[in-house]
Amino acid sequence: MRTRDHSGAPSDLPLRCQCGQVGGIASNVSRSGGFRFVCYCNDCQAFARFLERPDVLDPAGGTDIFQMPPAHVKLTAGADAVRCLRLSDRRVLRWYTDCCRTPIGNTATSPLFPVIAVVHSFMVHGADGRSRDDVLGLPLCRIYERSAVGPLPSNAPAPPSLGVFAHRASKIFCWWLLGLGRPSPLFDDRTNTPRAVPRILTRSERAAL
Ligand SMILES: [Zn+2]
Ligand SMILES: [Zn+2]
Repeated sequence: MRTRDHSGAPSDLPLRCQCGQVGGIASNVSRSGGFRFVCYCNDCQAFARFLERPDVLDPAGGTDIFQMPPAHVKLTAGADAVRCLRLSDRRVLRWYTDCCRTPIGNTATSPLFPVIAVVHSFMVHGADGRSRDDVLGLPLCRIYERSAVGPLPSNAPAPPSLGVFAHRASKIFCWWLLGLGRPSPLFDDRTNTPRAVPRILTRSERAAL
C-alpha cells in the first residue's frame, strides 16, 4: 500500500512548458523552501492576456505563484525559447516561453534580488504521486484581491498578516545570505543582464491588454 508523503521533505520537481520544448528542474522544493501565494493583481492578469493564456488564471483572475531562490532553478532544455516581458514602467520582468506562451515566472529587473516567482503553469506535479498542495503546502496568503475579477473561491488563502510578511522577508534574507541568488537560469552570471532582451510594452500597449 502506498502512503502519501506529507512530511514536507524537499523534492526535485520537473519544470516544463505546455508543449514540452522548454524544461528544467526545480530542486529542494518544499513548503519551507519557498513561499506560495496567490496574486490577483492587474499586471499578472495582463500578462496572461498578453500570452493569450487565460487558462493560467483562476476564475477570480488569480495566479498561483511559488517564490524560490534562483540557484534552485535550472533550465535543461529549450532555453533559447525563453522570452522576457516588461509592462511599461514596472520593475518586474515576466518570463515566458515563445513556443507555447507558457508563463515561467517573474523576477526583479536585477539578479541581485534573490527570488524567482515561478508561476504554477511551469511546474509539473504528480509524477511522484504528490499534489501541488502536498509538495508546496497551501498558499500562505493572497495579495491584490481588490483586482480580482470575480468572487474568490471559498478556499482562498487569507490576506497577508504581518507574520506572513516577516516570514517571507526572513526567507529572502536567508537566500541572500546563502548566495542563492545565483546562478540564475534567467540572468547572465557574468554581466548580470537578462538572458532574453526584455520586450517593454508601451503604456498604450499595456492599456490595450
Ligand atoms: Zn512550449
Ligand atoms: Zn500579480
